[in-house]
Parts: sequence; structure tokens; C-alpha cells
Amino acid sequence: MKLLIASNNAHKVQEISQILSPYFEELVTMKQAGLSIDVVEDGTTFAQNALKKAQEIFEKSGYDAVLADDSGLCVDALGGAPGVYSARYCGEGHDDAANNALLMKNMEEVPDPKRTCRFMCCVALVRRGKAPIVVEGTAEGLLLRKAQGENGFGYDPYFFYPPLKKSFAQLTSEEKNQVSHRKNALDKLRLALDKEGL
Ligand code: IMP
Repeated sequence: MKLLIASNNAHKVQEISQILSPYFEELVTMKQAGLSIDVVEDGTTFAQNALKKAQEIFEKSGYDAVLADDSGLCVDALGGAPGVYSARYCGEGHDDAANNALLMKNMEEVPDPKRTCRFMCCVALVRRGKAPIVVEGTAEGLLLRKAQGENGFGYDPYFFYPPLKKSFAQLTSEEKNQVSHRKNALDKLRLALDKEGL
């Protein structure tokens, strides 16, 4: 079975391919498949958005298997925000720097012990003739007050990961890919696929 990965983000595609290639004959991205399908991410949870994306692209693309993900940062002191709005926390068309600046402003008064947060990633796999699989992975951390590190993207410079005593932006991509929310979600998907094969 060929798997269509509903993403053109090179980092995500590499991570997904590494983990899932043993389970599919071939893995292709939207770009490689010559597809451009826009799905409105209007769900209130990561799971709703990931499943909607996978289902719509499955129906429109004609592929037998489609994988989609949705991810973001959830900050406890902000009631889980920016959450599903992580990419557009500062409004449509804003960039990572503007999103991070707003987050820092909203967290200014929050003391260190209350700066707990987590990255979340939900992965949905939709296949012909089989029930969809939806899994979620997390990475627990603390929100810094100042950016640390140059790697990664999005909120990485402000996300301190206690087990490695570094921000996600201070990790190499190989290091991050071993502990990230995306890696944890993909590991759960792998387990679900292994279980099916039994
Ligand atoms: P999406 O899943 O690509 O739609 O990501 C949504 C948004 O969440 C991104 O634009 C980032 O702001 C944030 N985000 C998701 N995963 C990460 C990560 O691994 N590091 C930093 N920011 C992330």
C-alpha cells in the first residue's frame, strides 16, 4: 500500500518516513504526488484537525492510505493556549517571531513554577477498508523567558526540555526527533500497526 503524507514540511516528512517506511511499499508527499489540497483546520482539538485533514485528502486524492498530523504548544497557565491556534496565535499571516512575542507578553506575570507546558502532536491515518487510527504524543516542558538556541522552528527557542536540560532549539534535529511530541505520536502509530499485524 502506498502512503500519502499530507505535509510538505521536509522535517516532518523525514521523521515520518524514517519511522513508517517499513509499513508501506512507498511513501509520497503531496508535492511528489502533484497534489495541492487545502483543508480548513477549524477543529477545536488536534485530533479533530488531523482526522479531518487525513479524511478529506483521502477522499480527494484517491490514495489508499493518507497520514496527516496537527500539532502545537499548550501552556497550562493560559488554559491550554495557544493550542490548536499555535500557528496563528498572533493572527493569520503572522510569523513565529510575532507568535513568540505575544506568548512572552501573556506569560510575563507568570512565575517560574507555573510555566509548565507541553508540545502536542496528533497523527491520523486513514486507509481504504480499515478503521482510522488516531494517536497523540506529547513532550513536557517549561516556558522560558528568553529565547535559547538557534535550531528548530516555531516555539522551540522558548521550550525548555528538563530531561536534557536544554531548549528544543538547542538540540540537533536528531536529538529532538528522538524525544519530540511527533516522535511519540509516531511511535504509538507504529505500535498500533504492529498490533494489527499480529
Ligand atoms: P502544524 O502542526 O504544522 O500545523 O504546526 C502548528 C504550529 O505549532 C507551528 O506553526 C508551530 O508554531 C507549533 N509547533 C508544532 N510543532 C512544533 C515544534 O516541534 N516546535 C516548535 N513549534 C511547533
